[in-house]
Amino acid sequence: MTFKAFQVSQSDDGYVRELVDREENDLPQGDVLIDVKYSSLNYKDGLSASGNPGVTRNFPHTPGIDAAGIVAASSQAEFSAGDEVLVIGFDLGMNTSGGFGASIRVPAGWVVHLPAGLSLHSSMLLGTAGFTAAECIDRLQTAGMSPDDGPVLVTGATGGVGSVAVKILAHLGYQVAAVTGKADRHEFLKGLGAETVLSREEFNEGGHRPLMAERWAGVVDTVGGEMLFNAVKSLKYGCSVAACGLVGGADIPATVLPFILRNVNLLGIDSVELPLAEKQRIWLRLANEWLVDLSELEEVLSLKDLSGAIDRILAGQMVGRGVLHH
Ligand code: NDP
Repeated sequence: MTFKAFQVSQSDDGYVRELVDREENDLPQGDVLIDVKYSSLNYKDGLSASGNPGVTRNFPHTPGIDAAGIVAASSQAEFSAGDEVLVIGFDLGMNTSGGFGASIRVPAGWVVHLPAGLSLHSSMLLGTAGFTAAECIDRLQTAGMSPDDGPVLVTGATGGVGSVAVKILAHLGYQVAAVTGKADRHEFLKGLGAETVLSREEFNEGGHRPLMAERWAGVVDTVGGEMLFNAVKSLKYGCSVAACGLVGGADIPATVLPFILRNVNLLGIDSVELPLAEKQRIWLRLANEWLVDLSELEEVLSLKDLSGAIDRILAGQMVGRGVLHH
């Protein structure tokens, strides 16, 4: 059986992207063969497609860290042909052929039954980005964040993780402040539920000081770098930042002062290797009490649109969620 796929190959001139017909027999060994109906574009797919060795080492390669579809065959009893399932994280789309192909074969331990309340399509509107936004909020709540404590900040707010975080936090009754580099997207963020929108310059004002004014009851940070530590320096006493991203840099210019003077916490968030039982628990929240309508965030992508969208996500220009329809 052949299937359509977006493929990245290595050449003397760099990394070449093309649409190809691939053979099911070329997929890796695994328990569950899935006909992929939808995938979504995440920043990490951009890293994979541009040869970042921390993400993908073996080429030619089909990226796509997310996939939702229908089981075609399974060697494991918990899945049967016809089941609706989704896969995010683990090695999908890194060095295992991913959701930018219309077929994947993966270990059963990566696969989640689609929770009632979500469709295959809505699960990919969330995708890894939306899931990670939820994971950040879940961890912040476990650390004590509550709507009565004051405003919660989201950085990289128009991006995939950021925009879903704004939407869910507003749905849960939090007062949301959003930081964006896109001056023309302030109204868009207000429409998602942000009460306040700050430019990156406004947010970083005073960042040369060891501590900044106490403002945030919690922060979802997708940016890293200087912005992450400015978020730590402007937390209210005892509050937390959930750090999940690095679009602004992996190094943090930090001191211990906010930690030992303000009792604040820096929480690390990983959605990739999070154990399956935890993934299922968070998917259930997203399908129930955290269910939000994300249709305004969708950019519909076909396989032929992917290359341009990858360039935009690497340049920090993507807004909302790009959903791949196979
Ligand atoms: P997007 O590209 O969709 O969003 C990132 C946003 O960050 C941009 O839209 C932009 O928003 C802002 N931004 C981009 N460059 C800069 C910069 N140099 N300085 C400050 N802000 C910048 O990416 P995703 O939402 O998919 O992912 C965000 C981050 O989270 C990535 O680093 C990704 O790898 C990470 N991630 C981590 C996961 C985990 O498990 N830990 C899972 C999912 C994502 P604006 O213009 O509004 O400021």
